[in-house]
Amino acid sequence: MNIHEYQAKALLRSYGAPVSDGRVVLRAEEAKTAAGEMDGPLWVVKAQIHAGGRGKGSFKEADAGEKGGVRLAKSVEEAAEEAKKMLGRTLVTHQTGPAGKTVNRIYIEDGSGIETELYLALLVDRGTSRISFVCSTEGGMDIEEVAASTPEKILSFAVDPVTGYQPYHGRRIAFALGLSGAQVKQCVKLMGQLYQCFVEKDMEMLEINPLIVTDSGDLKCLDAKMGFDGNAIYRHPDIAELRDETEEDPKELAASKYDLNYIALDGEIGCMVNGAGLAMATMDIIKLYGSEPANFLDVGGGATKEKVTEAFKIITSDPQVKGILVNIFGGIMRCDVIAEGVVAAVKEVGLQVPLVVRLEGTNVEKGKEIINSSGLNVIAAENLRDGAEKIVAAVKG
Ligand code: GDP
Ligand code: MN
Repeated sequence: MNIHEYQAKALLRSYGAPVSDGRVVLRAEEAKTAAGEMDGPLWVVKAQIHAGGRGKGSFKEADAGEKGGVRLAKSVEEAAEEAKKMLGRTLVTHQTGPAGKTVNRIYIEDGSGIETELYLALLVDRGTSRISFVCSTEGGMDIEEVAASTPEKILSFAVDPVTGYQPYHGRRIAFALGLSGAQVKQCVKLMGQLYQCFVEKDMEMLEINPLIVTDSGDLKCLDAKMGFDGNAIYRHPDIAELRDETEEDPKELAASKYDLNYIALDGEIGCMVNGAGLAMATMDIIKLYGSEPANFLDVGGGATKEKVTEAFKIITSDPQVKGILVNIFGGIMRCDVIAEGVVAAVKEVGLQVPLVVRLEGTNVEKGKEIINSSGLNVIAAENLRDGAEKIVAAVKG
């Protein structure tokens, strides 16, 4: 689960980390008052969306002006003007995809004078199974670009979970970032605060890009992105409260309400499968036969007819779906429950695309009977390969 920059900064502030003063604004009329609560002489007006690259992004609507989603203003009036131009408009960045994201919130910040822009992140490194600090002197820009063209400029420091964060981690990072004097001390303290926040809140990712040295020589977190481990959210009601459902894929949101393991993808074949491993294999074989999966979906072992019905409805709600492959190897999951769910869903929402069903395992005969007597236009498949071949053929015509 991701949160907005202003929420992430509030959390960082509560751990004592240096961030600018700022106000969040939901309506254009609030912008002037909000900006007026800060002294200036510089204000930064920042679109709040769950995507990076805002500064270099652009708006779809002409009346939003030429500039991107991060704008500098020299007066309260100018700040309010820029906020008004961005609110309700659609910001497109390299992370939003071509559709862009609607800007519903603006963060107005007390502007900082920048000496240097650095990069810092904390993440769970799957290679070492440890939390790692990742840092670079090349901050403020596209870190993916730095990783591709000058990977030697990105350094990583893993933290042993037994010792936890130690001051020497902070000193190593400080030297890697070219800091000196009092900045080294600030860095040791800040890295400790970030590490503590990361661990206590069960984060998956914390990115500060840029971490800056201000014109008065101090460290400050100028941007903040946070991702939390969805499986641990139940331990953090304060974080759960920060969820902004308007930022999420509506299909994934519906799936999460029914506790379905669903991930939206951009292919054309909807998949309903039981078991994560079989779901992965199903996506692979769809690609092998020349098409692309529209989603990952593991309906799980104990799914009810209602849950299967909802899952099927979510798949058919995706306008990109040109065909559906149901691939069930019933162990704990019973084939008749799947069949009942599919039939119920189709009765409710109809079926505009070809449907291939492969059923195997527990109660398979009963399942096939339910499908066959339903009058649905279903293409039966004998096995995984046959199912993939048939659905790709049906979609490609
Ligand atoms: P992103 O484009 O979504 O990553 O948004 P950022 O918050 O990282 O802002 C993009 C860029 O705007 C930064 O790299 C800075 O160069 C600039 N910027 C952001 N805040 C300030 C500020 O307080 N003062 C100045 N001078 N520039 C800022
Ligand atoms: Mn940034």
